[in-house]
Amino acid sequence: MLNPAFIAQLRSLVPAANLLFEREDLVPFESDGLSAYRNIPDVVVLPENEAQVAAILKLCRAENVPVVARGAGTGLAAGALPVDGAVLLVLAKLNRIKALDPLARTAVVEPGVRNLAISEAAAMHGLYYAPDPSSQIACSIGGNVAENSGGVHCLKYGLTVHNILKLRAFTIDGELLEIGSESLDSAGYDLLALMTGSEGMLAVVTEVTVKLLPRPERAQVVLAAFDDVAKAGAAVGNIIAAGVIPAGLEMMDKLAIEAAEAFVHAGYPTDCAALLLCEVDGVNEEVSDDIATVRRVLTESGATEIRTAEDEAQRLKFWAGRKAAFPAVGRLAPDYYCMDGTIPRAQLPRVLTRIAEMSVEYSLAVANVFHAGDGNLHPNIPYNAHDSDEAGRVHHAMREIMEACIAAGGSITGEHGVGLDKLRYMDQLFTPATLRAMCDLRDVFDPDRRANPGKSVPVHSCREWHMASSVRALDREATETR
Ligand SMILES: Cc1cc2nc3c(=O)[nH]c(=O)nc-3n(C[C@H](O)[C@H](O)[C@H](O)COP(=O)(O)OP(=O)(O)OC[C@H]3O[C@@H](n4cnc5c(N)ncnc54)[C@H](O)[C@@H]3O)c2cc1C
Repeated sequence: MLNPAFIAQLRSLVPAANLLFEREDLVPFESDGLSAYRNIPDVVVLPENEAQVAAILKLCRAENVPVVARGAGTGLAAGALPVDGAVLLVLAKLNRIKALDPLARTAVVEPGVRNLAISEAAAMHGLYYAPDPSSQIACSIGGNVAENSGGVHCLKYGLTVHNILKLRAFTIDGELLEIGSESLDSAGYDLLALMTGSEGMLAVVTEVTVKLLPRPERAQVVLAAFDDVAKAGAAVGNIIAAGVIPAGLEMMDKLAIEAAEAFVHAGYPTDCAALLLCEVDGVNEEVSDDIATVRRVLTESGATEIRTAEDEAQRLKFWAGRKAAFPAVGRLAPDYYCMDGTIPRAQLPRVLTRIAEMSVEYSLAVANVFHAGDGNLHPNIPYNAHDSDEAGRVHHAMREIMEACIAAGGSITGEHGVGLDKLRYMDQLFTPATLRAMCDLRDVFDPDRRANPGKSVPVHSCREWHMASSVRALDREATETR
């Protein structure tokens, strides 16, 4: 519990409306997009500019108070989950696009700017920002940097780390860091890559210079239906082996298709086991060639139906179902648990078959909707968190799925980060020395471990682990056994 004198000092740093400490104001911040983890913050501060961010961080340093940064709170790994005795620093009010240079093809934005807002602002110049998480209507660019977020178009155009040039950020002690440059390379260590994906544990990002790309001359999407999930999984590898790098290659299984169709009426066939959406883009002739190749490979891979979007309206309609698939699954039950694991593409058929078996073993509905081209799985389980038996089964199924990804030579995250949710798997992925190196690195930026304590990198014996274990979590077992 933070003391009233500290709250009073915070009040002197931001406008009164930007400091929240009454319970009814704090409850909306109790979780991110993964509602299985909840913890009501002690206090929420919403600075409006860098000077206020620095002042808040300096006050927290003086009072030895931890800080959890938060963007839009759409994260799916409990990364922005409040920690007891900490300030929740919400960057949503730093939401200005400061500059947009169509010649240099860059934009300078504050961290609270929504991902989609960048492309909307750039559209008048025929430009866009490529990484497009399905949450892009809401998630912030600061959160994207902290999670190294991906999206449908990242297979061809890269993740956040490949699409940013510069950052301004503040250390947890309130000191300014200027990282990266507008030229191709910058001197010294590559701190830009280090900060990207650091989950709010190395610094608070206050400004991002992003790269903008010209809109391709033509983009076209092919939809293919399959009567078997494993066949669809194999088709993914076949497309890439045929020499096509799709702009997007996404897969949905039956439950995801039905949920999306009921929600946004994208016109999907609902009598199939799986759908692939394969978009190619580029100059006209290249797109025509690639579409022909993709259709041929899909036919040879056993697709039961293939449709090519005839125009832009139909292309957007095909994507609307995929983009709305998570909320569509969210409509099936009071809660849903979305996992994020990555496997080598060639393992898709095997791991998808195993997930289907687990769904039966645990009597749970599992909707798979994911970035198939990247091998980035997103099994979604709709469930009722108040049913402890069902919640327990969800937890065990999710753990088995993560372990199946690790066993297949993959990873426990493709884009959502580790957060609190996946901390428990880190020592299956890394050697003790590697984990120690991560902790040591963190100590360089944050020796007192006040930045987003208890997330991402497991430090079993230290106080931050105990802080994190105060969280009401589904996985009590994981926190208790460490
Ligand atoms: C429906 C849905 C679909 C999604 N689809 C995708 C997808 O396709 N691809 C994908 O990658 N993700 C996806 N996500 C996950 C999520 O949207 C991303 O992780 C996103 O980047 C989080 O941004 P945010 O602003 O909501 O961050 P938050 O959830 O607020 O925070 C996420 C992490 O970033 C840190 N952080 C936030 N802002 C800052 C800052 N300014 N400085 C330092 N640290 C900061 C927080 O401490 C936390 O650790 C999806 C989520 C939902 C709900």
